[in-house]
Amino acid sequence: MGRIHDENVPTRPAFPAAGSKPVRGADDDKGLLLYVHVPFCRSRCHYCSFHSQSFDQTTFAWYLSLLLKEIELWGRRLQRPRLRTVYFGGGTPSLIPLAQLDRIMAALRKAFVLNPGLETTIEANPDSAHDVSYFRGLLSLGFNRLSLGMQSLKDADLQTLGRPHSAGMAYQAFDQARRAGFGNIGLDLIWGLPGQKLKVWLDQLRIVSEMRPEHISAYNLTLEEGTVMARRCGEGGDLTLPLDQEQGRMFVYGAEYLESTGYLHYEVSNFARMGFTSVHNSGYWDGSDYLGLGPSAVSTLGRRRFTVPRYMDEYDAYVRGELVGNDYEDLTDDDLLKELVMLSLRTAKGLDLKEYRRRTGMDLIKRRERLVSALHRENLVRISGGRLRLTKNGMLVSNVIIERLAFGD
Ligand code: SF4
Repeated sequence: MGRIHDENVPTRPAFPAAGSKPVRGADDDKGLLLYVHVPFCRSRCHYCSFHSQSFDQTTFAWYLSLLLKEIELWGRRLQRPRLRTVYFGGGTPSLIPLAQLDRIMAALRKAFVLNPGLETTIEANPDSAHDVSYFRGLLSLGFNRLSLGMQSLKDADLQTLGRPHSAGMAYQAFDQARRAGFGNIGLDLIWGLPGQKLKVWLDQLRIVSEMRPEHISAYNLTLEEGTVMARRCGEGGDLTLPLDQEQGRMFVYGAEYLESTGYLHYEVSNFARMGFTSVHNSGYWDGSDYLGLGPSAVSTLGRRRFTVPRYMDEYDAYVRGELVGNDYEDLTDDDLLKELVMLSLRTAKGLDLKEYRRRTGMDLIKRRERLVSALHRENLVRISGGRLRLTKNGMLVSNVIIERLAFGD
């Protein structure tokens, strides 16, 4: 990849130059995906490596003024493009008071075209979003999809994860959001927790599916370097993760259970009731253009990918310098092709083999004949309707399979 992050490289604007080929998402009929990063949390969860800092009024006011400016500058730069989705993620976006969210939404409406009813998501945590008036306020500002960080239904697990809320608070948040009128709620869960057994995980899925959220994300706990969880589960630590075999059963039986209750398993970690797949995330997996605002947010416009600086003083310089940065890469055909393989194989739709042939002039199945035959024999992949898909067992080891299919042996 042509990654450039070098003091010696002249600083260049991190966007397509004026007069260059228009941004894909800005002028096609689908519109652009917009992500707003909110880098504040109440406290640091023990497994988390995302960019966030504790919430304080002074830093938040600084962030807000820069974000409003960044929105205005991008609107002007891209000539007020139409948006397909808006997604506030973090961090903990629900720490932002309604009055300030109102200012951000007003700035977005001014800088971009937001069609009525476009999917507008906000991530919320039960410790900061739990009463009906807050949820009503979100709806009145145009948010129509809520992604609620529940993570576990057991208080002991939540403590181990370092979450600042109880299971009771998560139930209450869900209940209040429904009462307020949210008709599209996603619940986030984590499985493969220290000491967790298959039965306990399936019990949690039963309870969650009976709550009938429109969407469920179920992520396997990963140990990120430098986190409390990695230390406690590492050598000499006091916690033990379930064995691989047990984790495999959690994934396969969990997915089968959710499917039996009416949830479509549409991506390795994501399930949705009919009509409620996430438009925003599906856009990422389809390779659509996206614009990321706020510290550490990533964008891909045309063939250029770039990252907003993560620390507030650097973010300040980037915005005041009118979006000039030097952390960008220009994607090659090969980069885009590998991404197509990596992203599409994570989805239930799988990889369109005709599209692959059109873009490379090569037949993937022939190109990786021995590998594909071996994966097929092991029931890890299947080919149907001109698409290559991972089976449930294949999804379990998706990273290894995808890497070998995309990059070769
Ligand atoms: S709330 Fe989310 S972003 Fe914040 S520390 Fe916890 S896991 Fe990380």
